[in-house]
Amino acid sequence: MPQISIIGSGFSGLSAACYAAKAGYDVTVFEKNSAIGGRARSFSEDGFTFDMGPSWYWMPDVFEKFFADFGKKPSDYYELVKLSPSFQIFFNEGAPLVVPSELNDLYTLFESIEKGSAARLRDFMAEGELKYKVAMKSLIYKPSNSWAEFASVEVISAALKTDIFRSMGAYTRSFFKDPRLISLMEFPVIFLGAMPDKIPALYSLMNYSAYTMGTWYPMRGMFQIIKAMEELARSLGVKFQTGVPVEKIVVLEKKVTGLLLNQKLYKTDLVIASADYHHVEQHLLDEPSRNFKADYWDKKIMAPSSLIFFIGVNKKIKNLLHHNLLFDTDFNKHASQIYKTPQWPDEPLFYVSCPTKTDDTVAPDGMENLFILIPLAAGLKDEPALHESYFQKVINRLEKLCNDSIAGHVVYKKSYCLNDFQQDYNAYKGNAYGLANTLGQTAVFKPGIRNKKVKNLFYAGQLTVPGPGVPPALISGKIAANEAIKHLTKTR
Ligand SMILES: Cc1cc2nc3c(=O)[nH]c(=O)nc-3n(C[C@H](O)[C@H](O)[C@H](O)COP(=O)(O)OP(=O)(O)OC[C@H]3O[C@@H](n4cnc5c(N)ncnc54)[C@H](O)[C@@H]3O)c2cc1C
Repeated sequence: MPQISIIGSGFSGLSAACYAAKAGYDVTVFEKNSAIGGRARSFSEDGFTFDMGPSWYWMPDVFEKFFADFGKKPSDYYELVKLSPSFQIFFNEGAPLVVPSELNDLYTLFESIEKGSAARLRDFMAEGELKYKVAMKSLIYKPSNSWAEFASVEVISAALKTDIFRSMGAYTRSFFKDPRLISLMEFPVIFLGAMPDKIPALYSLMNYSAYTMGTWYPMRGMFQIIKAMEELARSLGVKFQTGVPVEKIVVLEKKVTGLLLNQKLYKTDLVIASADYHHVEQHLLDEPSRNFKADYWDKKIMAPSSLIFFIGVNKKIKNLLHHNLLFDTDFNKHASQIYKTPQWPDEPLFYVSCPTKTDDTVAPDGMENLFILIPLAAGLKDEPALHESYFQKVINRLEKLCNDSIAGHVVYKKSYCLNDFQQDYNAYKGNAYGLANTLGQTAVFKPGIRNKKVKNLFYAGQLTVPGPGVPPALISGKIAANEAIKHLTKTR
């Protein structure tokens, strides 16, 4: 069988590898880092185990569907627990908004905050459900090679019934007035890498998924999913070469013939590149073989980068849940310092994951494992000297909101920022979450899965369709593998 090479071992690369191997191809994954997992790697130090990237397990159906394609279930590999409550949001005054795991309790919460909002939430969710079902069936798993793929009666009638092209910001405000409810409904789309006024209301499907299917956690951490996929891939015959950066994709007469690894040619029949699209095009391909010129990328809206702190605390912290959003400062000011006038934020909003609230295996007994994330504009100049001042800022606010002392109990601390994303993943502008899912960067408007000039080269990952996030990365790998298999079947 022909040999398929996969560049990168994040979720999209692992997914592509599994599908290609299942179809009978000889598959090898090349990963520049010494460990697999890409942005979802983990590390252990001083008794703490930190997930380095994703922490929200949403859309459990997508994971089920992935494993089901191989006759497996997530529970064959990891123990999944539903978080209850799902998460909390701290505002600048009043008690935090604790988001229940059951939809009926969410209706009650809405009604207690804004009269009449429970009924409006029902309508919001009904539209979200329609969008979710149509998207899962007829949109998200498509390669997006052309708009014709979406021209079905079902898609057109769903588009006419729901407000898919309006902005998520305007859409949400047409249902709710209370700023806390608006934040709650807008927050899921922030994962898509842009302000709600730039994200199409199609993505209220994420609210439907988040608030009806719940927020989950794989015991021992998100890296368990990577381990599960690696085990599955190996069982299908996939080989891995770690610590091996691909230096060049060798193209002869519009066909990939090999990869340059350690200055040596490795012959291959087809490549699925799941490393960041920009890196693959601009650094691994010669100019005539690229889909896009350098200035194409300058004009793209990148999802943010982040300043992350991995923190170990030698006591239990009061009033913290597993997932905590600190929206206690001016949302619009921080957002404009990410998207409009990129700069280090004055008073950042931030997110704290505290997996030890669910799982005591990720820290020594009686201690707390904290992952603190401050969103930053991609492309900012990293200033390691600033990291400590941001740490002081966020820890002071966290202490105040939790009404507990933390700073004096920190026994482990490590920061991770723009330079690290660039060095570790060849991330364009040090982005964390890829390319934003704005209207102009959705579906056919995204960098495509196929290289138009080199027929046996395909792309996967969070800079191509369907977009950023773990579930989309799984889907992206599947789409790329299917397109690759179609090509090989046709040319055989
Ligand atoms: C901090 C953070 C928090 C996040 N939180 C969430 C969350 O809570 N929920 C969620 O669903 N999503 C979340 N995401 C997004 C999600 O993690 C990503 O969308 C997903 O992991 C991306 O997978 P990928 O395969 O596209 O890319 P990657 O994981 O980046 O994989 C690409 C791989 O290619 C490798 N590579 C690069 N260049 C080369 C080369 N020349 N040769 C060989 N290998 C190379 C890289 O080292 C990397 O391993 C988060 C991301 C980050 C960074």
